[in-house]
Parts: sequence; structure tokens; C-alpha cells
Amino acid sequence: MVSEVLSRHYFLIFKNLFILVLQNFNKMRYEIPVQWFPSTLLIAKEHAILSSLECPNCGQKTLKIVGQEALPPTTQLPELIGGDRLFCKCENCGHSSVVEFIFRKPRPGEDAFKYLDQVYTSLLESCSSKQVPDYDIFINELLMIMEDVRINKPDMIEQILEKLLNDLILFSSEMEMTTNISIFNRFKLISYFVSILPEKEFEWILKRVPEKVHNFLQALRQRA
Ligand SMILES: [Zn+2]
Repeated sequence: MVSEVLSRHYFLIFKNLFILVLQNFNKMRYEIPVQWFPSTLLIAKEHAILSSLECPNCGQKTLKIVGQEALPPTTQLPELIGGDRLFCKCENCGHSSVVEFIFRKPRPGEDAFKYLDQVYTSLLESCSSKQVPDYDIFINELLMIMEDVRINKPDMIEQILEKLLNDLILFSSEMEMTTNISIFNRFKLISYFVSILPEKEFEWILKRVPEKVHNFLQALRQRA
């Protein structure tokens, strides 16, 4: 009788512990192709995924990193770590969750530029969504990514410049037809970023943009 009560007692403790663990640590898992290692682009990709994730409890996209550990190496990559485990807390409701990123080899078609393009697009989206654009995050992350590319894959720089150029042209023409604040913010974010690029890269873009954008970029550069 006593042992029955005791075992039921322990069963309840374990059951409650199990529920508690489930509630507190909803684990989310994502694979990330590694183009080169170590890589700022890789970290930026983790941040991009994280900013798109909804809190499992309240549904807001407000997960913030409160801790981090490296995952052990896997057999398919020669790197010292096999991924990252991020401990996150929701800024809105306080819910804890764990997000794991597993590193793997890129598959055919997953080239570095496509990968960078996704990171850039998500960064641009999240930094332009509020009333005031988030210049600090956008510029700092993109500066780190550009430096990473200059060191590890310098032939890709022109592709990035082309992307920035196309976006400047696109958003400057869209601005004439919309009152959507995020379009204005996107144009401002990219312009500021371009205005602080090294001389050669800045000139590459400057000589290809329409006159109105040209004058705006030059004024920004003189102010920087
Ligand atoms: Zn939440």
C-alpha cells in the first residue's frame, strides 16, 4: 500500500517535471548550409531565422538570445563544431525556448550568394518595419557580412553591389507611387549603407544609379 502510494507520488513528480520541461523548452531545429567557416554570414543566417520565428507561447516574433552553446562536431563536416544551440526567452511573455542550428554541407544550388541574399532580405525586412528604420543593426550586420565575403569569397562582392544597386533603383521608383513607410525605410537603409562603402565600391554604384539617387548618395557621403 505504502509503496503503491509512493510510486504514484513519484509518477506524478516525473509527469509534472516532464510537462514542465516540455512547456519551458520547445525545441526548434534548423539546418544551415556552411559555405565557409568560421563565418559571420553563418551567424547572420541564425539571426535571420531567429527573427522570423514566433514564440511558441504567445505567437509574437520577439525571441531574444539569453545563452548559447556549441554542438559537438558531426561526421559530415570537417569543422570543430557541428552547430549552435541558442537558449531564447520571449521578450513579450517570458517563455523560454531552445533553437538549434545544425551545420551541414551545402547542397547543389545552395550557393553562397543565394544564401547571403536570404539573410540580406530578412535583415532589410526586419529593420524597415518600424516607423524609424533600425540603422545600427542593418549597417553593423551588413558591414560584418561584407568583410566576411571580402576575405572568404571576394569574387562575390560585385554580385552584392549589383543587388544593392537594383534595390536602390527599385525602391526609389516605388517611393513615387506609394506612402508605404517600409519602402521609404528600405531606400534609406540601403542608401546609408552604400554611402559608407569603400571608395571603389561606392563609385561602382554611384555611376549606375539614376540622377536623383546619385545626388542623394553623394550628399550622404559628404555628410558621413
Ligand atoms: Zn511569447
